[in-house]
Amino acid sequence: MVARPYVIDEMISAKSIAARIEELCKEIQSEFSETNKLVVVGLLRGSFVFIADLVRELDLPIEVDFLEASSYGDGMESSREVRILKDLRGAIEGRDVLVVEDIVDTGHTLNHVTGLLKSRLPARLKSIALLDKPSQREVDFKADWTGFEIPDEFVVGYGIDFAQRNRNLPFIGKVRFTEPE
Ligand code: 5GP
Ligand code: MG
Ligand code: MG
Repeated sequence: MVARPYVIDEMISAKSIAARIEELCKEIQSEFSETNKLVVVGLLRGSFVFIADLVRELDLPIEVDFLEASSYGDGMESSREVRILKDLRGAIEGRDVLVVEDIVDTGHTLNHVTGLLKSRLPARLKSIALLDKPSQREVDFKADWTGFEIPDEFVVGYGIDFAQRNRNLPFIGKVRFTEPE
């Protein structure tokens, strides 16, 4: 099968992302100012670039852990059924936790993951998403911090893929198909 050709139009520049991360980190630091045990949990794989930039801007004592949940597969539609493919390495009971996600779309993924992590009795559980598509929400979920609200466009770059490609783009772009289906 020949892939349908597409181009990527820049939507959010690398510079805007970096500036927004600086602002977000100030807020996160004041929320967790007295913490001595923050675990920053990245949701694989889409958040790997975001979490890398975020933790380097955060002036707090932290540990990093990862969890992999799947809902999308390689397509462009959410499957709504969230599965845990890789769990945390460490226990979070009694600890402060910040869950880091790339995009909140229907809300099923973060709703499921934060519900699961809350059941492990962390001291505090907060979440941050780089991007939010509020128009797509199917469950009542809002991240504690959001980088940018975006319209219902399929985006790639800055860790986010289209069929595993384009994660290494330094900016967020939207996919535009150049030939009809
Ligand atoms: P939700 O469970 O909120 O519907 O979906 C969250 C997940 O869907 C995100 O973590 C991300 O992996 C994927 N997703 C949502 N919108 C997009 C998009 O525009 N592009 C890509 N590549 N993935 C998306
Ligand atoms: Mg994701
Ligand atoms: Mg994906």
